[in-house]
Amino acid sequence: MKRTLINIIICITLIFFSINVSAQKLRSEVFDLINLEYPGLKEVKILYEEGKNAEAAKALLKYYRTRTNIYHPEVDLKNLKISEKEKKWADDALEHTFFVHEGYQPSFNYGKDINWKYWPIKDNELRWQLHRQKWFIPMGKAYKITKDEKYAKEWIFQFMDWINKNPYALISKNEYEQKNLNIPFEDAKENAQFAWRPLEVSHRLEAQIEQFIYFIDSPNFTPEFLTEFLLNYHLHATHILHNYSEQGNHLLFEAQRMIYAGTFFPEFKDATLWRKSGIDILNKEINEQVYEDGGHFELDPHYHLAVINIFCKALQFTQANGFSNEFSAEFLNKVEKMIIFYMNISFPDYSNPCFSDAKLAEKREIINNYKKWSKIFPDNKEIEYFATEGKKGELPAYLSKGFLNSGFYVFRNSWTIPATVMVLKAGPQAFWHCQPDNGTFELWLNDENLFPDSGSYIYGGDDKVMSERNWFRQTKVHNTLTLNDSNYQNTNSKCLLWQPNGKVQKLVIETQCYDNLKHRRSVFFVDNNFFVIVDEAVGNGTGKVGIHYQLKEGEISLDKQKHSLVTCFPKNNIMLQCFSPDEICLKEEEGWYSTAYRKKKSRPAVVLETQKNANKPVSRFITIIYPMNDKEKNELFATFGNKNFDENGLKIQVKVNQKTYNLENHF
Ligand code: MG
Repeated sequence: MKRTLINIIICITLIFFSINVSAQKLRSEVFDLINLEYPGLKEVKILYEEGKNAEAAKALLKYYRTRTNIYHPEVDLKNLKISEKEKKWADDALEHTFFVHEGYQPSFNYGKDINWKYWPIKDNELRWQLHRQKWFIPMGKAYKITKDEKYAKEWIFQFMDWINKNPYALISKNEYEQKNLNIPFEDAKENAQFAWRPLEVSHRLEAQIEQFIYFIDSPNFTPEFLTEFLLNYHLHATHILHNYSEQGNHLLFEAQRMIYAGTFFPEFKDATLWRKSGIDILNKEINEQVYEDGGHFELDPHYHLAVINIFCKALQFTQANGFSNEFSAEFLNKVEKMIIFYMNISFPDYSNPCFSDAKLAEKREIINNYKKWSKIFPDNKEIEYFATEGKKGELPAYLSKGFLNSGFYVFRNSWTIPATVMVLKAGPQAFWHCQPDNGTFELWLNDENLFPDSGSYIYGGDDKVMSERNWFRQTKVHNTLTLNDSNYQNTNSKCLLWQPNGKVQKLVIETQCYDNLKHRRSVFFVDNNFFVIVDEAVGNGTGKVGIHYQLKEGEISLDKQKHSLVTCFPKNNIMLQCFSPDEICLKEEEGWYSTAYRKKKSRPAVVLETQKNANKPVSRFITIIYPMNDKEKNELFATFGNKNFDENGLKIQVKVNQKTYNLENHF
């Protein structure tokens, strides 16, 4: 008897809970947020003023279902497609297996009764990005294509479940408690740090527009649900308006998405305010965050790409809806410069260096970017060239190119395969995504990258996650100089010389990387063929000075006597040899590189080391990186012409297979 009673109580509780979670109420307060004078809302206004709220909500839904004057330039309902991947995310989501992060596959299941706080691995991204609800748009596409109501029902269920279990708690305890919710304030507040982080909120703000388009015609999309949807949407935009991130790419993402919100839902009284706030931020931030040469100030090629797309999306969305004149001509000019910058630092297969937190995108994705950019800049022949893979347009008229404000320098002998391309990074101090890697480079030979950057592997989280992240951030896992293997204290480089033309192209950069030691790196690109790198460590710092080199995965063969290595890769190979007036030794080091989140490959890495003591003001190294033809043997040699460090330049003599080169720079 007792057991039956308990069962009945459990059943009633469950029934009550499920009704409570999925119930949609008519939220009349939404009518106060909407400008009922807006064209097309006359019927809604009359019904609302007559106190017929349910009828007014019905009329509002009819208005949205038949509205034809607002466009989403990225949604083409007549040619809607869903990829295999998206279909899987949509179907998995029906079972509450949610695609949250590419780095955590297969996806986790969040339970029949969805646990929005489930956090199986303490990587912040995994908990933050759950709240981006990346499977909702795929569910919308699946619904629109199959017309199967199961997707609409489940989307609405999850949408309401999220609202109910992730209350807005970034307010005072008093205010929160007046709402009489069944989640204690402290719990809701902890959760809100993830669910209501402005970047995630802005993500939903953009994504919910697409969801709205796909699901609005569903019979399950009721007038009541419409009021819940709009109220929640308004809370999202209001939250961003008052909580924009302070700086960086987050601020830009949030601004672009507020432009979307204000443009797509002009019926809200605050719509103009939202749109204008976003436009003002982008107009201002493009000058704060983008250097004159077109480089984004986080010095991360991946975020650079993302930022171009933020600006382009804002332009396209407003253009499609008649607001494009709110961006200045300067704005367009700067976006074009950013694209030119990206084009230059990319390799012939459309990949970009994985400096800082950068990752690799698929070639197809990058070409699609160029196609979109080409529509915005139809007169730019170079963008057209990359958009059409060379079928139309023109290649840039130059090869090597420096971006001196952002500190990116590209030595290039061709835009197309086979090519030799070195991209060297030595910029000003940058922000969170940037690594202490000044002077490092990636080197492409013929049709592959032989010196890929270590990448980033993972972002932030608990101590374990942070220790994994920190390994990839270390200065010593880059192609540059360290003192006692420690990370740079200062990351502000200056350029002393950049000469991108002629038989010998030259670069000299300098970084006061430690308080007691500066690193001067001179690079010579000789005969459009090989590189000579001169490293000088100057100052009072003492201990182990090392020059590190990181190669792609594969076999290498070391000659420790000669301080040289040759690669034994299947296709393209180099010989690398180091010369110094000091006693140096060549050692192998731990090497990894990552081009995607939580994916890494083991690779060979070496260091050339010398001991620097108090009596020695400078340590000097010359490294030759020479491309090999087949298995030919190369004789390399190099020596300094000026015996002491010279503030104003240097002279060296290099011999390659009996041919002598006298190289110098002066500034
Ligand atoms: Mg790196």
